[in-house]
Amino acid sequence: KNFKKVYNFNAGPAALPLAALQKAQAEFLDFNGTGMSIMELSHRSKEYEAVHNQAIELLKDLMAIPAGYDVLFLQGGASLQFAMTPMNFLPAGKKAGYAMTGVWSEKAYAEAEKLGEVFVAASAKAGNYCSIPAVEELQYDEAAAYLHITSNNTIFGTQWQNFPETGSVPLIADMSSDILSKPFDVSKFALIYAGAQKNLGPSGVTVVIIRRDFMEQANKQVPTMLRYGTYAKDNSLYNTPPTFSIYMVKLILEWVKAQGGVAAIHKRNQEKAALIYQAIDSSEGFYVGHAEPEARSLMNVTFRLANEGLEKKFLDQAKKEGFVGLPGHRLVGGCRASTYNAVPYESCQALQELMLAFHKENA
Ligand code: PLP
Repeated sequence: KNFKKVYNFNAGPAALPLAALQKAQAEFLDFNGTGMSIMELSHRSKEYEAVHNQAIELLKDLMAIPAGYDVLFLQGGASLQFAMTPMNFLPAGKKAGYAMTGVWSEKAYAEAEKLGEVFVAASAKAGNYCSIPAVEELQYDEAAAYLHITSNNTIFGTQWQNFPETGSVPLIADMSSDILSKPFDVSKFALIYAGAQKNLGPSGVTVVIIRRDFMEQANKQVPTMLRYGTYAKDNSLYNTPPTFSIYMVKLILEWVKAQGGVAAIHKRNQEKAALIYQAIDSSEGFYVGHAEPEARSLMNVTFRLANEGLEKKFLDQAKKEGFVGLPGHRLVGGCRASTYNAVPYESCQALQELMLAFHKENA
C-alpha cells in the first residue's frame, strides 16, 4: 500500500533489494534495542562495530576473498581511487598500464597521468568502446608498476568476460559496476575497488579489496587519509567511517547470501540480461545493441532504435509505463537498462514486453 511500483533501471545510485530496505525501515528509529538510529550510534560503539565487522566478513565469504587480503571502507567514490592507486603504487621510474575500455578508464588514466608515467596497454576507443580487447592483446612488460582495467563499462555496456593473468605485474580493477555480480578468482588481483552505489549499497562508501603484500609496497610519503595502510591498520576505523552506508552494505550482503550467494545471483543476472538482449536480437534491426555480442555486459544493456526519430517516443512511452532510468548516458545517447543484482527478473520481463510491443506497433 502507498507503494508506487516502478521498474528501476537506474545506472547508479540504483535499485536496492526491497527486503534490505524494509529491514532498514523496520529498525530505522531503534537499532537493535539501543533506542537510537544506526546513524546516531558512535562508530566506536560495540553495536556499530559488530555491523562493520559483519559487512567485512560477509563480503569475504561471498566473494571467497583469500587470506592475505584486506577489505577496506573508504570515501571519495571510485573517482578518488583513480588518484589513490597511482599515488600509492606508481613510483618514479615505473610506468602503469591502462586498458582503455570506456569513459571511466579514461578518467582513471587521466588521474594517473597527473601523478606519474602511464601507457595504454590496449584500447577499444576506435570502435567507440563497443568491444573489450582480448587478454592476449594487452601490451605491457614485467617492469610495469601495475595494469589497470575497468571490469564493466557502465556507460557503453561492455564487460570483461575473462581476466588477464598478469603474473608478477599487479592487476588493479575498477569493479564499481559489476562487483558481486558473478564469481571470479580474487587472487588474480592486487587491488579491486568499487563505489558501492550499484551492487553493494547506497553511495558514500567505496569498497577496496587489497592484497596485503602489495599494500606494503605503497609509497610512504602519501598523506594519511590517502594511504590504504591507514585504513587497513585500524580496520577502516581510523576516522569516522560512513556508518549508515556500511550498515546498508551489510543488509545487502545478507540479502545476497539469502539469494544463494554470488553464483545464484550470477545465474539470475544472465537470465535477466538475456531477456533484453533477446528483444534486441529478435527485432531484425529495429533495436541495435551498442556492444559487440561477445563483449556484452550483464549489468548495463545499451541499445538504440535504428530509427532515431522513434527513440524519444519509446522513452516517453517507457516513462509513462513506470520505467525509470532508461535514457542512455549523455555521452552515448540511446537507451541503457542497468540490470544490477537487485533489479528483479520481473522488471526485465516487463522491459522485454515493452520492447516487443513497441516494435510491433511501430515497425
Ligand atoms: N567507475 C565506474 C565503472 C563507474 O560506473 C563509476 C560511476 O558510475 C565510477 C567509476 C565513478 O564512481 P564514483 O561516482 O563513485 O566516483
